[in-house]
Amino acid sequence: PRPELAETGTTIFTVMSRLAQECGAINLSQGFPDFNAEDVLFEHVAHWMRSGHNQYAPMAGCLALRAAIAAKVEALYGTRYDVEHEITVTAGATQALFTAVTACVRPGDEVIVFEPVYDSYAPAIELAGGTVVRLQLAAPDYRPDWAAVAAAITPRTRMIMINTPHNPTATVWTADDLDRLAALVRDTAIVVVADEVYEHIVFDGATHASCARHPELAARSFVVSSFGKTYHITGWKVGYILAPRALMAEFRKVHQFNVFTVNTPVQLALADYMSEPARHLGLAAFYQAKRDFFRDALAGTRFELLPSRGTYFQLARFGAISTLPDTAFCEYLTRDIGVAAIPLSAFFADGRDERVVRFCFAKNEATLAAAGERLRRV
Ligand code: PMP
Ligand code: GLN
Repeated sequence: PRPELAETGTTIFTVMSRLAQECGAINLSQGFPDFNAEDVLFEHVAHWMRSGHNQYAPMAGCLALRAAIAAKVEALYGTRYDVEHEITVTAGATQALFTAVTACVRPGDEVIVFEPVYDSYAPAIELAGGTVVRLQLAAPDYRPDWAAVAAAITPRTRMIMINTPHNPTATVWTADDLDRLAALVRDTAIVVVADEVYEHIVFDGATHASCARHPELAARSFVVSSFGKTYHITGWKVGYILAPRALMAEFRKVHQFNVFTVNTPVQLALADYMSEPARHLGLAAFYQAKRDFFRDALAGTRFELLPSRGTYFQLARFGAISTLPDTAFCEYLTRDIGVAAIPLSAFFADGRDERVVRFCFAKNEATLAAAGERLRRV
């Protein structure tokens, strides 16, 4: 084979979940809930399947679901996306992100990302022939350095990919951050891709800063979300992308040939489910309680917990416990302690080891308590 993606191995989420399973460890590595979604959602799916809605949905997604998404986004962020031309249902956020990159990035284009960076972004950019420009977010606050962003923008910059609330650092951007970004891309042709899959999971009274709420950014942004995170159904792999009409036209040129369309009865069920009163309300409080429970469970250990302001992830420094590299430390935790975590180095191109691991707390209290008990033995 040609040496594309020479640096890319198997995604860390597959590696760690496999190891957790092999070892019978509590899996706090790959991000997914260990509790079920509500029954009513399954009843909706069964209804649409039984009533014969089992063939191809329209390429952009079922109209009912796009209408429900438009209504929700307008109610939350004040921007009306056109149901016909500006909303597309995708096979999870992963496909939305990949397709947006493929639609826009050409050889020689530069794409700015913030490191630590979610692991699917760079391979998509590289496959499209783009150059990944990595800006660093520094512990413990992992805040963007706007002077560095300004300095990184060149005439070749085609895209900036942002993610708030941020996986893996659990930071959230503010409205002021979006203003800074808007000022930097003004008078350029730069497209923004905003990965907002954790839009409903922000803690301590903070407000999610959505590009959909920022008219100037909305006019040049792809905004991505995922039903997996919001409704506890990561395995259904359904999400959506919003964009102004001209950008969405480019997106759909690719979308129609890499997935064409997404699971019909699931889309119709989600449309019903979303139309019932604000399902996402309470999600932040629900996960904030889990965050607090998990942090309490780790109190008294030598893990140093970093702030978790959103997402369902908790970073922890382990430098006071072990001198192992973070990958070896995660393997030790999984094999010997019985709790799997993700090494932060997986989110850095150079594999930099900051002696930090990521735990997922989207789990029942019993799971978090059992994990805490094991981690107190480390
Ligand atoms: N972006 C981020 C930041 C994520 O954390 C995830 C999944 N955890 C995705 C994208 C992918 O979402 P999906 O499972 O809907 O493809
Ligand atoms: N996004 C999830 C995480 O960060 C994993 C999704 C995947 O396995 N691709 O853990």
